[in-house]
Amino acid sequence: MVVALQMQKHEFLDAYQTALAQYDRAIRYANLPDDVVEYMRYPRREFTVNFPVRRDDGRMEMFTGYRVHHNTSMGPSKGGLRYSMDVTLDEVRALAMWMTWKCALVNIPYGGAKGGVVVDPKTLSMGELERLTRRYASELVPLISPKMDIPAPDMGTNPQVMAWIMDTYSMTMGYSVPAIVTGKPINIGGSEGRTEATGRGVIMCMVSTLKHHGYHDPAAVKVAVQGFGNVGANAAAYAHDLGYKIVAVSDVEGGIYNPNGLNIPQVLNHYKKYGQLAGYPEADAVTNNELLALPCDVLVPAAMEGQLTQHNAAAVQARFIVEGANGPTTPEADDILNDKGVFVVPDILANSGGVIVSYFEWVQDLQAFFWGKDYVFDQLNRIIMQAYDRTLQTAEDLRIDMRTAAQVTAIQRVASAILTRGFYP
Ligand code: GLU
Repeated sequence: MVVALQMQKHEFLDAYQTALAQYDRAIRYANLPDDVVEYMRYPRREFTVNFPVRRDDGRMEMFTGYRVHHNTSMGPSKGGLRYSMDVTLDEVRALAMWMTWKCALVNIPYGGAKGGVVVDPKTLSMGELERLTRRYASELVPLISPKMDIPAPDMGTNPQVMAWIMDTYSMTMGYSVPAIVTGKPINIGGSEGRTEATGRGVIMCMVSTLKHHGYHDPAAVKVAVQGFGNVGANAAAYAHDLGYKIVAVSDVEGGIYNPNGLNIPQVLNHYKKYGQLAGYPEADAVTNNELLALPCDVLVPAAMEGQLTQHNAAAVQARFIVEGANGPTTPEADDILNDKGVFVVPDILANSGGVIVSYFEWVQDLQAFFWGKDYVFDQLNRIIMQAYDRTLQTAEDLRIDMRTAAQVTAIQRVASAILTRGFYP
């Protein structure tokens, strides 16, 4: 159920520019030596691979994949694998850098990485998807290990893809290595709660934000969610369970809107049955761009990068934005939203629930001792709320927006690890 949203190509190419612009903003408050600031701008290593895959009709087709390790000062690198036609090395670089800050912000012992293959997974049969995944995984073998770099799902990949990676790596080693990936199916070492974790974390951040601003009645809060993949669908479902009014959701084709609130369990059934939101009764059709400007209290962009730009940020009516996607807001849009007084809970905080429960999965795999779901969610709550409170405190102390506050906290942690370890040799 992972869905990518289309967007303008020129915005997309800018993800790395966005990541660097955010970094440059944050380091002004970080008070760090210039050499460390320069060091953290760079990905540590970047890997590009071109490889063949046999299609079902016997043809051989070439594909390109990437894996970027941004910074590994805090531990092995961690981050998802994306299958999308929009994957570029620049995009993977940006996403790897955001993983470094995300892991540091929530204080889990990882660096940041990301990978991807330029492919539309919807155009592949199951057999083709498996062959592509296994070949890409075997090309990644020199770069990944439970001690070096641990992949996970992202846009266009899912637990089954993780299972094939785990199996390919394990076959190469000659024994089972569940800790090589997270986001696996539970029957082969996945964690309870991992599937729901990202969406749930998004809503935990939303609830804290609303409480902090004096909104105590869920039924009076209108929420619009862009994206109906793993993050958007789980966020909408959890918010609905808590009693919030979900007025709009969207998938790659467009959205559905009902100002009185959508029945999310019914929407999920419709989506399962038809593979799209379009055609859901009791709602009006809206485009993805229209969804961003709907009258609501909270907007949750949970689709992909570069959705809120200088072209549409002024039209946002929500008072709060909680970023389920990575990099949905450009720096220009941030300026407009900050001027309007919109409170933005940034991606590296709001969507960190996924990597936090990935961390739990890795810990459980290494210890071969598994936790119950309630314990997973309690620990998730503890870690994400600590990061939330710390970010809010930093924002208030330094009188800066939440994104810059989150980045400053993360960057200072990574810098501290670099300085304590020292420069090699
Ligand atoms: N792809 C997810 C993210 O962007 C999860 C990464 C992970 O669990 O390692 O945070």
